[in-house]
Amino acid sequence: MSAQILDGRAVARAIRSALQADIAAMRKTRGAPPKLAIVTHTPQASTQVYLRAKLKAASETGLAAQEFPCAPGSGAEALVRLLARLGTDASIDSIIVEQPLPKGFSLDAVFSAIPPRKDAEGVHPANYGRFFLAKSAAEIAAADIIPPCTAAAIIALLRETNVHIAGKEAVVVGRSEIVGRPVAHYLSALDATVTLCHSKTEELSEHVKRADILVTCLGKPACIKGAWIKPGAVVIDAGMNRSGDVLVGDVEFAAASETASFITPVPGGVGPVTTAIVLANTADAARRQTV
Ligand code: NAP
Repeated sequence: MSAQILDGRAVARAIRSALQADIAAMRKTRGAPPKLAIVTHTPQASTQVYLRAKLKAASETGLAAQEFPCAPGSGAEALVRLLARLGTDASIDSIIVEQPLPKGFSLDAVFSAIPPRKDAEGVHPANYGRFFLAKSAAEIAAADIIPPCTAAAIIALLRETNVHIAGKEAVVVGRSEIVGRPVAHYLSALDATVTLCHSKTEELSEHVKRADILVTCLGKPACIKGAWIKPGAVVIDAGMNRSGDVLVGDVEFAAASETASFITPVPGGVGPVTTAIVLANTADAARRQTV
């Protein structure tokens, strides 16, 4: 079998083009486009790449986006103060914080400083907590929340395959607050039978081999071997790892493509869809302020 490529760039373009008419209408009524604030703390080569990609995607969609850097070497309190200021700035519709943040920063304190209605990534405890309280996809949709954006992107890609999710064995490798845990919950809400693996999991390969749906978000280049992929599995690789000058996923792409039915490339898979969802959340936040 040779897997179909799940083209995240095409899915992202479709999400963004569906927003454009709405954004153009808001530009007219408000006199300005919806605006996303991208808060950066510790500039790194990798985060600069993601930042530029977000600024470009926003501009192509008709949205305004601006970087708000924290002063070099400043602590978590300065970051929280900046977020609080942007939270009360009427010209800002939504806010994201570029990760990674320095070790020791409380994600709870940082995410809590963003007003829930401006939380484009779905990380504020009010959005995040209510997401986990919703037991089904219908409850998530009805909850009037912003679900965690990378998990939402992974589910959007999965829906592209038209694969029936209910009852399937889903294995998620990685249990971070940002990706692994929320996507495991989302898959469970869609009635998949979910196994959540992590660095202490024994016999990881045996879990992966059972997966009809495999989501990887462990951040280890090509750690998931192609030989472990169940024939016909859908493989969504959220990993974005630098290997020399290139970006690679968590899965051995070429070997896994031999057995999977669908697979996301890295780059060009989960990343662009996550950005498109952040932009959609920005437009949504602006719409709520105008009605
Ligand atoms: P993280 O916070 O470092 O979490 C990594 C997770 O992987 C942890 O749960 C860890 O287990 C687990 N893990 C590490 N090594 C493992 C191993 N050998 N076997 C099994 N599990 C292992 O990372 P993250 O923030 O979730 O990011 C993960 C990856 O996703 C990174 O490459 C990141 O760049 C990418 N990412 C992509 C997007 C996107 O939009 N595409 C968004 C966010 C992140 P423990 O819990 O036991 O430590």
